Amino acid sequence: MTDQPSPASTEGKPSALVRFDAFAAMLGDRRPAVFLDYDGTLTPIVERPDLAILDDSVRAVIRRLAGLCPVAVVSGRDLDDVARHVGIDDLIYAGSHGFDIRGPDLRTQIGEEYLGDLDEAEAALLGRLHGVEGALVERKRFAIAIHTRRVARDRKASVGDAVQGVAAAFPKLRVTGGKEIHELRPNVPWDKGKAVLSLLDTLGLAGPETLPLYLGDDETDEDAFRALAARGEGQGVGIRVMDPPAPSAAAWSLKDPAEAGAFLDRLAVWLAEG
Ligand SMILES: [Mg+2]
Repeated sequence: MTDQPSPASTEGKPSALVRFDAFAAMLGDRRPAVFLDYDGTLTPIVERPDLAILDDSVRAVIRRLAGLCPVAVVSGRDLDDVARHVGIDDLIYAGSHGFDIRGPDLRTQIGEEYLGDLDEAEAALLGRLHGVEGALVERKRFAIAIHTRRVARDRKASVGDAVQGVAAAFPKLRVTGGKEIHELRPNVPWDKGKAVLSLLDTLGLAGPETLPLYLGDDETDEDAFRALAARGEGQGVGIRVMDPPAPSAAAWSLKDPAEAGAFLDRLAVWLAEG
């Protein structure tokens, strides 16, 4: 949701792992601030969100990295949910796509005046989708996710129609989508990109001595890639976790969560060596 169109392209997305030396050279003597999506980035996409368990080795890497540079997890999940899954105290967590932010000495909530509409829309969705096998309505504080991964292929479209139908009755909410998910959230110009820029300001990391990195795998992460790209050449770096390559505003890529873990490990080792 940035003002500028992104240079979305499948071309020229070098692997931040395979070409780590070039990546490190680009970082130079700047300290990174690392922003991480959770599902599909740190853990493989699974059938049920509660089964997306963070590997202990990746948790250890993130903990090590957080001792070397600022680290924040920015997820579509509910704040408490993502914090529990990551399980590291003292990290910065941004839940509900950045609407709900918490960290040491930090608390920001966007869109509290939309909670009543979200409550009503949740009830409407539960009514509309009652009886659609596999459709999972998940209420987060600042969003309602409708998961379709376990819905029969020929019924997925009708779930989308139901979501659109409910959304039409709540003009203060808007629909966004992703992998096997529809989502209703407050219709305010706020997204993962705005959340990342706001965090950089709040944490005093907006200066040239810091290079923000964002790792993500999905459509909502493109908001963050665009926001970082819009800071200017070399002032923010997007890394999209994807296989096969897809159009993205990120400049770098990684194939899968395993590569993301390996990349974070390389980065931690490199930072520790100074
Ligand atoms: Mg994701």
